[in-house]
Amino acid sequence: MSLSFTYASMALMDRQPAGVRRLPKNYALLLDIVRAGGRGTHRTASDIFALARAERRGIGFATVHRGLARLCELGTISKIEVGGEAAWYETAAPAHAHLLCEACGRVVDVEYAIAPRTLRAIAQRAGVRIGAENVTFRGACHDCAAAAAR
Ligand SMILES: [Zn+2]
Ligand SMILES: [Zn+2]
Repeated sequence: MSLSFTYASMALMDRQPAGVRRLPKNYALLLDIVRAGGRGTHRTASDIFALARAERRGIGFATVHRGLARLCELGTISKIEVGGEAAWYETAAPAHAHLLCEACGRVVDVEYAIAPRTLRAIAQRAGVRIGAENVTFRGACHDCAAAAAR
């Protein structure tokens, strides 16, 4: 199991900035697709592209990429990056960690957040300012762990 921290700006939850109300049609479609699965659904850009394509044949991969980047900037979706793997996107949610299952390749939510007190201590020790946390574990998801135990 590995634990990695990245301090990229992460989405604040359920804020609806003015930019969202003026989204181009294609971007609004992407937002709908990411939100459709609800919390705990993580999709790669390729998954999202395939779903967008099914709705709007003319949509290109570059548009999907730009759109996802923009939606991350707006804080309506979050990007999950695990070193050396494809990135996943999910609807903005309160802080939680992720687990990348090394058996089935799924990314699942794990209820975990670093206590603010601990973050402050880490920042103070390192002499840095921490804006956001992003924790990803590697291991086996619930189903795969259960299957291995049988
Ligand atoms: Zn699994
Ligand atoms: Zn998640």
